[in-house]
Amino acid sequence: MGVIARWRDRLPVGPATPELTLGEGGTPLVRSERLSERLGVELWFKFEDANPTGSFKDRGMCVAVAKAVEDGAEGVVCASTGNTAASAAAYAARAGLPAVVLTPVGAIAAPKQAQARAVGARVLEVRGTFDEALRSCQELSDRGTFALVNSLNPHRIEGQKTAAFEVIEQLGRVPDVLALPYGGGGNITAYAKGFAEEGATLRLIGGQASERAHTIASAIRIAEPAHAHEVAALVADGRAELVSVRDEEITDAWLEIASREGVFCEPSSAAGLAALAHITLVPGTTVVCVLTGHGLKDTAAVDVLTAGATLVEPTVEAILAEVCS
Ligand SMILES: *Cc1c(COP(=O)(O)O)cnc(C)c1O
Repeated sequence: MGVIARWRDRLPVGPATPELTLGEGGTPLVRSERLSERLGVELWFKFEDANPTGSFKDRGMCVAVAKAVEDGAEGVVCASTGNTAASAAAYAARAGLPAVVLTPVGAIAAPKQAQARAVGARVLEVRGTFDEALRSCQELSDRGTFALVNSLNPHRIEGQKTAAFEVIEQLGRVPDVLALPYGGGGNITAYAKGFAEEGATLRLIGGQASERAHTIASAIRIAEPAHAHEVAALVADGRAELVSVRDEEITDAWLEIASREGVFCEPSSAAGLAALAHITLVPGTTVVCVLTGHGLKDTAAVDVLTAGATLVEPTVEAILAEVCS
């Protein structure tokens, strides 16, 4: 069951809203073995990369595109560091609407662009930053016809908040801490809303790249977060904490999740785990770390961060010489 069908009574949808779905939501919550031990807490991973296009964006996108159809939009438009584009393109194709996606030139991981192109989106590379691309998308949607499906679209936040409902349902209680990356801030805003609607209080930790404009973690390479004001208000109210992490901390956390847990997420996803190293965790508490995007979305990062394959002759001697050396 998709997000709209599953959470209909918690979403701004009605009889005129199409039940658009690619099977998003209902993602696994998996207990971490080794990192739980190292951190002295009960650590869980929320596998949001198990969504249909490989990132959490699908949760909000199904609602945003369904509402665009309901409102009579003739197409959808977004600016993207990659995953929003892949998701918008897929749901637009599913709904039979054209999608226009703007990405900063040279700044998006190739597999994400491939996803958008494969399902027929019009991909425009902008000679400029993500922030400039977003401003022009807003102007285009202000002229009517195209619905903006960036997270400034409140329906995105509504769909994404369902992840908070699921975490509580799957754990059978409210976690003490939930950590996730903070790029544009749509996701942290959505979790805060979802938990508030459940009357749940917890520590919400947003890990942001200290070098926002240049980080290796391309999904959070956003200099001016679109939700900066909402996130600042959450922080002022004591409902969220922000932690800045260096790229080296992000990539170390990424390697640790991969090699010690067997979980392959994209580097941006590891910013939440990297942030946890900076806060005091009460021993034995329950911590959920949201993995936002799949590792296959940014294989170029793997080439930078891990050793390459070794070429050998097809003999036992050659294999043993390599693996035992
Ligand atoms: C979009 C995205 C983020 C950042 O989410 P925001 O809502 O912009 O803060 C983090 N990780 C991945 C993989 C993403 O696709």
